[in-house]
Amino acid sequence: MISYDDDCAAALTAAADAARRWLSSVDTRTVPARSGVEELVQLLGGPLPVDGLDAVDVVHELAGLEPGLMASQSGRFFGWVMGGTLPAALAADWLVSAWDQNAGMRDATPGVVAAEEVAARWLLDLLSLPSGADVGFVTGATMANFTCLAAARGAVLHGVGHDVHGEGLTGSPRVHVLVGQERHDTVDLALRYLGLGHPTEVPSDDQGRIRLDALEQALGQVPAGAPVIVCLQAGNVHSGAFDPVAEAVELARRREAWVHVDGAFGLWAAASPRLSSRLGELGGADSWATDAHKTLNAPYDCGVAVVRDPAALRAAMGVHASYLLEVASGPGNPYERAPELSRRARGVPVWAALRTLGRSGVAHLVDTLADRAAAIAEGLRELPGVTVLNEVVYTQVCFALADDAATRVAAAALHEEGRILVSGSRWRDREVLRISVSNARTSPDDVEVVIDAVRRAIPRMAR
Ligand SMILES: *Cc1c(COP(=O)(O)O)cnc(C)c1O
Repeated sequence: MISYDDDCAAALTAAADAARRWLSSVDTRTVPARSGVEELVQLLGGPLPVDGLDAVDVVHELAGLEPGLMASQSGRFFGWVMGGTLPAALAADWLVSAWDQNAGMRDATPGVVAAEEVAARWLLDLLSLPSGADVGFVTGATMANFTCLAAARGAVLHGVGHDVHGEGLTGSPRVHVLVGQERHDTVDLALRYLGLGHPTEVPSDDQGRIRLDALEQALGQVPAGAPVIVCLQAGNVHSGAFDPVAEAVELARRREAWVHVDGAFGLWAAASPRLSSRLGELGGADSWATDAHKTLNAPYDCGVAVVRDPAALRAAMGVHASYLLEVASGPGNPYERAPELSRRARGVPVWAALRTLGRSGVAHLVDTLADRAAAIAEGLRELPGVTVLNEVVYTQVCFALADDAATRVAAAALHEEGRILVSGSRWRDREVLRISVSNARTSPDDVEVVIDAVRRAIPRMAR
């Protein structure tokens, strides 16, 4: 028999102990995972045992997975674009699980919906987005791109007299989707989910920003009166560069195009007066996708879809069923703003992150990430044989050694040593190493560690 009160208390204590042990180890342990999946599958057992195990022992077995965890909470973790977690956001996420609220219906779970509505309002204010926009809390920027582009598809087709939500895509006019050459691949994925096929690529400049002359030309090639969506990017994963959003919006408006901005990690620049004045206005578009689990340092899974016209979003995402508690007007139901009906209250950790930081704290967080990236770039430029390939305008540093072979050797050496974690990629026809400063914990000491680790990883021949 499970005794809920006692077993929950004991299991949560065991989990808290294991979590504390893990978190206090990330400052000293190697950053990449040291055990592989096969080994850990062995550890967790063969066929499903006939008999159960009590909750505390289950937690202990799971804690055995630690050698297979990547220390993404460490200040020396710079892989892909993955943030750490703020203590308040982590604790809030635990409460979300303990409360176990289904956040789909406003009037059924008012507690968590209130937190999400406040978080949404704060986000719009903080990021200088229209105060009347609708906000959906989704799993990540992939689904945020999908959610926004679903609203876009419905709106631009409605504009030419086709009801895609009623009639589907069969018999629909073609939607012309223009994207920068270096958009994130999840934009293509979202378009695929939506049956919109391959977008038209618009050439980018040497930092990966969409070229305005090329965008103007591409818009000119769309047949008059055809529905158009333009996808822009705030924050290129290699360079951190921002598309010239305000100027692109102006061009797109002449064609009555819907403008979407993928700002998975870049949208947060808008919270920093210093960075936003340098990187440009983002607020003129029709929809924006971002992640809270990257720059804001909320735990996974947490993305945010923002759509200027609430009716467009709710037409795309709303459902109607006799058993649902409908909210006729005003704020509507959370399930009208996200693909899921039932879901966890993932906006609550966003509220907690914003509350613990405050307006000044978010600006400071974003500025500090950018400062650390600039300091890393400065240190790397001093190293023999290392070239920093991007203008370091935000949180990303992309560098390479003399040739692809040397870069690969250095990548392997860095992984082997494990003091830092950086990820490899190909950019502009070169093997590169990418440093993404996305964790609030990255300190000036960590910056020194990066420079020292890279110095020692440079192959002798390449110095
Ligand atoms: C990370 C990222 C995405 C995808 O976000 P997920 O949270 O992984 O779904 C999309 N666009 C950009 C620019 C990103 O950095």
